[in-house]
Amino acid sequence: MSLLEIKDLKTYFDTDRGLVKAVEGVTFHINSGETLGVVGESGCGKSVTALSVMRLLPRPIGRIAGGNILFKGEDLTKASEARMRQIRGNKISMIFQEPMTSLNPVLTIGFQIMEPLMLHQGMDSKEAKEKAVELLQLVGIPDPKQRVDEYPHQLSGGQRQRAMIAMALACKPELLIADEPTTALDVTIQAQILDLMNDLQREFNAAIMLITHDLGVVAEMAQRVVVMYAGLIVEEAPVASLFYEPLHPYTQGLLASIPRIDKDLDKLHVIPGFVPNPFEFPEGCRFHNRCERAFSRCSREMPPLYSLGDGRMVRCFLYGSDSGGGAR
Ligand code: SF4
Ligand code: MG
Repeated sequence: MSLLEIKDLKTYFDTDRGLVKAVEGVTFHINSGETLGVVGESGCGKSVTALSVMRLLPRPIGRIAGGNILFKGEDLTKASEARMRQIRGNKISMIFQEPMTSLNPVLTIGFQIMEPLMLHQGMDSKEAKEKAVELLQLVGIPDPKQRVDEYPHQLSGGQRQRAMIAMALACKPELLIADEPTTALDVTIQAQILDLMNDLQREFNAAIMLITHDLGVVAEMAQRVVVMYAGLIVEEAPVASLFYEPLHPYTQGLLASIPRIDKDLDKLHVIPGFVPNPFEFPEGCRFHNRCERAFSRCSREMPPLYSLGDGRMVRCFLYGSDSGGGAR
């Protein structure tokens, strides 16, 4: 059994401007101890998938409209709010892109690390504070005994991100969801944070769902990757296969747009067109209006996710046979 199994997840938003089907039938799994990269441009549904798992969708507009989210076999789509409070920050934790939005500015860093320890692990405040100092030390914050009593604004951006990681790891979660954990940081700090996450994963044997638009981060961290586009998974593959032989035209475009030292910079590929507006996703293949290989069927029918073996899946007619073999 996988640690996390998402099956045909549909997450919708009822907005003033109409219904947004932000996630439209997403299926993937994460095994214990592995890192799964979830890649795509902003608005593709990757953060919404994460918020669905945490059951932190903005209310009242966001809702899970279908599918299952099985965490160790328990369906989180059906869990009570009380049950979710036992799971959040304890068995599943989340790290966000901008710590200032998830750290509470009026509470000390230390208190925010202590809170889940007192809530979930039954520690008293003295034990929890010792543990908080230990965790700040572990994530590489200097003078942890002093910093534990500081407020978020007294820390640098990189330190806040480290503090948030300490907070997320406090209860040794089995699954860590990291949504663009390093995007707001400069390149050096970014590398340090990624190293830290790698080390901590080894130590805690946590699984990581790593959400990013940065394929370089995925190459460094993940064992498997799912690529999302317009609310759908368009490709899934082991990380090496994806980089050596991307199959979906969208993935090919993403990879071709990464600067590489062995390539001429002015030959960098840019995927033409824009990410489709979620209020009006195109009929047929949602990528067809940007796809250089589109043919007539692509604008009429939605391609299924074809399973090609060796952990590879791709949602593109170029890889299907009309007998339907391998399609699901
Ligand atoms: Fe392109 Fe057609 Fe494949 Fe979609 S199904 S990615 S439009 S070739
Ligand atoms: Mg996002």
